[in-house]
Amino acid sequence: MTTLSVDKKAIIGVIGLGIMGSSFALNLLSRGYNVHVYNRTKEKAQPLVKKGATFHSTPRDLASVADVIMTSLTDEAAIDSVAYGEDGFLNGAKKGASWIDLSTIDPSASLKHSEAAKQAGLYRLDTPVVGSKELASKGELIILVGGNYEVFEKYESFLKELGKSIIYLGSDGNGHKMKLAINLHLGLLAESFSEALAFSQKLGFDTKTFVETINKTPIGNYISQGKGPKIVEGNFEPAFSLNNLFKDLKLINTQIAKTGAILPMTKVAMEEYSRAVQNGDGQKDFSVIALEIQRKNGLI
Ligand code: NAP
Repeated sequence: MTTLSVDKKAIIGVIGLGIMGSSFALNLLSRGYNVHVYNRTKEKAQPLVKKGATFHSTPRDLASVADVIMTSLTDEAAIDSVAYGEDGFLNGAKKGASWIDLSTIDPSASLKHSEAAKQAGLYRLDTPVVGSKELASKGELIILVGGNYEVFEKYESFLKELGKSIIYLGSDGNGHKMKLAINLHLGLLAESFSEALAFSQKLGFDTKTFVETINKTPIGNYISQGKGPKIVEGNFEPAFSLNNLFKDLKLINTQIAKTGAILPMTKVAMEEYSRAVQNGDGQKDFSVIALEIQRKNGLI
């Protein structure tokens, strides 16, 4: 296998134009790549087509020309629906092309997809990402890579167009495993921030005073700094939806059952996030968990 990277003449296919996929595609277009796109809801492709992307009406059609197929989709079921079947991209892909999966999915699904890619003559890496739409559109994500090391070496410089930090973690599925461990921490961090916020309100402070104060201390973190001021404003426009974080918590639960891990706080957080979804906040940013804890405390 050569160590040549993907050059600007290569056709990059992006399947899934949600918050992240549309940001990846925009970043690649701005760097001069030849970007082809597919999305179940066609209208979401329009802004990218206006910037020079080529739309395909099926994943298979896109795969028939793509040198690299990037997927950024909700979950295993979503990927299965674009990968398999008559119009699936595995049916139309060029031999020797690659499949780079940036979605967060179950590590077992990752192994299943890796085997299917092999059968179809494709290289595959699992490359879930840390960071949201802003970093995705600037190409500054952190990318967690699982898969064959030689394949990783071949695509490493291309991955650097998407992320400022590319971390190789071992065999197929390991990127997805690490992503779940990191998102567990993210979920617990937002839950603990929300509890401290509600507690400060019970002590008589307003939310702005709490957020500004904690952010002047070494306890300030990604949630208090990145999400805190937006929570104060009541701005829950999704950068990472509650539905998607809850999907990850369910994947985490599956791995807890498999590994026998004992994680007491996770159980509590899972219940709170589940209630927030049931209360109809799933499409909002996951930081909306703060409202759930405030509601529970009679603060809103
Ligand atoms: P999103 O905005 O909800 O977009 C989801 C995408 O999946 C859309 O393109 C949607 O198509 C497609 N999709 C969902 N179900 C489908 C199905 N059954 N068949 C075909 N397509 C389907 O999600 P996102 O925020 O871009 O996240 C994408 C992935 O990256 C997820 O796995 C998420 O956990 C992960 N991630 C997100 C972030 C973030 O900050 N947002 C960060 C790291 C990782 P339609 O447009 O037709 O609905």
